[in-house]
Amino acid sequence: MTVKTRFAPSPTGYLHVGGARTALYSWLYAKHNKGEFVLRIEDTDLERNSQEAVDAIMEGMEWLGLEWNEGPYFQTQRFDRYNEMVDVLLAQDKAYKCYASKELLDEVRAEQEANKEMARYDANHPKIKAANDAAKDGDPCVIRFRNPKEGSVVFDDQIRGRIEISNSQMDDLIIRRTDGSPTYNFCVVVDDWDMEITHVIRGEDHINNTPRQINIYEALGAPVPTFAHCAMILGDDGAKLSKRHGAVSVMQYRDMGYLPEALNNYLVRLGWSHGDQEIFSQEEMIEFFSLNAISKSASAFNTDKLLWLNNHYIKTSEPEYVAKHLQWHLDQQALNIENGPAITEVIKLVGERCNTLVELAEQIRYFYEDFAEFEAGAAKKHLRGVAKEPLEVALAKVEAIEEWTTENLHKMIADVCADLEIGMGKIGMPLRVAVTGGGQSPSVDAVMQLIGKERCVARIKMALAFIAEREANA
Ligand code: GLU
Repeated sequence: MTVKTRFAPSPTGYLHVGGARTALYSWLYAKHNKGEFVLRIEDTDLERNSQEAVDAIMEGMEWLGLEWNEGPYFQTQRFDRYNEMVDVLLAQDKAYKCYASKELLDEVRAEQEANKEMARYDANHPKIKAANDAAKDGDPCVIRFRNPKEGSVVFDDQIRGRIEISNSQMDDLIIRRTDGSPTYNFCVVVDDWDMEITHVIRGEDHINNTPRQINIYEALGAPVPTFAHCAMILGDDGAKLSKRHGAVSVMQYRDMGYLPEALNNYLVRLGWSHGDQEIFSQEEMIEFFSLNAISKSASAFNTDKLLWLNNHYIKTSEPEYVAKHLQWHLDQQALNIENGPAITEVIKLVGERCNTLVELAEQIRYFYEDFAEFEAGAAKKHLRGVAKEPLEVALAKVEAIEEWTTENLHKMIADVCADLEIGMGKIGMPLRVAVTGGGQSPSVDAVMQLIGKERCVARIKMALAFIAEREANA
């Protein structure tokens, strides 16, 4: 049997990280079993669904690299099929027409509540029975599924273990509304059956639907898939993760400078483990993934860990790959990298210092653009009178360098220290501020090598002019 899983979002907005984790688990389970993964858009709620939301979900999935083998299927395109199956159940008396009006149902419910009975639809209630007996063909009606009255539904949830619900807890579910549209729980079953889904991996918020759906599978004579319900994701305060806690949309993570590998690695560990391993390549995730290692309890979102993982992936991914993702941020920050060193070299040098691609894009501007001013704090501290001579000596040596290598630049700095009998700090920091404009950068020789000779010379001169002016005004 080929394992087939699906992700079935309702397109009411962006792809939420909770949804993304469910999608990732379904995808991994399919990949682990050399199976298939289906994308199905559950778009029957016409008031709340939109094309933008469908696009946003697919954009999020694509960004995460969760490609689907089949779909996207759209439930709105399958109404005929659902209705065909409603009619089959009707013909077999496994479903029936119910003519009770909303007012009557409300009245019965109020009565049940007043009598401290469980409020539920009861086809044998005298008033409901009377309404149904009195109805004529063609009167407005809904179709209800005839839920078994006896026994119970038992299933082995792959995460939560054995679950048993008595049929006496379930009433006869509406499967087609008065307007002829099929309802959600019915559509899901027909879809999962038609799409030959073997494993339904979804959020725990659907666990109450499962016994009802199992009864419908059985009524249709369809094989019942295996179920796995994932616990919720919580914010750092223990409440269900929501916008209040910050970013919840996958694409917001792209915007904040995360690599998809980091978010995937973060999400896979959020509720699943393999020993105490934290970092998983995609191949490892696929190899080790299993449903029974998913945690039963809710997991709390931890941004520091996500940042740590992102730094790891910025540091260890191929620079060409990081460059591809960085480009979007360079565009956002209007930084043109044509006029400067190869971006891959800059990434190799600066990447490890950054937790996000936003930071990386912010920290590399000086490689590509000249600046009109030095950072005030750094200049105040390091571009002072005492730095004048070291910078002058450095300038002369820099101008004389023929082979512009990091080694020669390293030697140049050591020579300045030796000539003037000063410590490294007396030239290193002024030089750093001179060539980068600020007080923080990787090793200054490597930075200068990438910035290039012409720019370095001009910037050291600018620093000397700054010092001269400062002294003149003192
Ligand atoms: N459409 C449902 C949702 O977005 C998922 C239903 C399912 O996975 O069975 O929550």
